[in-house]
Amino acid sequence: MEQTNAGDMRPPNGAATQDFDVSVIKADITKLNVDMIVNAANNTLLGGGGVDGAIHRAAGPKLLEECRTLHGCKTGEAKLTGAYDLPCRGVIHTVGPVWRGGGSGEAESLADCWQNALALCVANGAHSVAFPSISTGVFGFPVELAASIAMETVAAFFRRNPQCGLSVTVAAFDERTKAAYERALQQQLQPE
Ligand code: ADP
Repeated sequence: MEQTNAGDMRPPNGAATQDFDVSVIKADITKLNVDMIVNAANNTLLGGGGVDGAIHRAAGPKLLEECRTLHGCKTGEAKLTGAYDLPCRGVIHTVGPVWRGGGSGEAESLADCWQNALALCVANGAHSVAFPSISTGVFGFPVELAASIAMETVAAFFRRNPQCGLSVTVAAFDERTKAAYERALQQQLQPE
């Protein structure tokens, strides 16, 4: 039978008691000691600039070797690799949409990135994951809109998976990005 009272399913301790465990910090994602970090990659998965370049530099050349075996990744999809020299346990590579004005399915693709990365975390027994601001760098997605889509997708994921025990961190690289995700998170916590 369908469980209706999410509160009854909560584990008894710590941060995992929250059904919606999301925080926003200003950080270099490559330094974070979490189970999984998400990479905002491109379709080739063979490295790029921005956060992708930083992750590959910090992980070392073995990450690129493994990525070569994956034969790329479609926009909105997500693939898991090892973390090599990074402090996390795994890297989830997802490919955000390039912003083309908003009429080319960009919002849906971005939501798919967050949803598919979260699903991969749960499927692989992760308890913590850090995301960068997917698509809002070189790919040009407006950060306020990206933050709002991202936090809506995370909230929907927690509503569907109240027992997942996953702690989600957004690792914003600058103040403006941090503020955008904080506002979007507040919006989910206290919808008007
Ligand atoms: P995309 O191509 O998906 O737009 P980018 O890497 O260009 O990806 O940018 C995505 C976001 O990641 C931007 O906000 C950028 O400032 C940020 N970023 C770049 N390096 C890091 C890092 N080391 N840790 C966290 N975020 C980063």
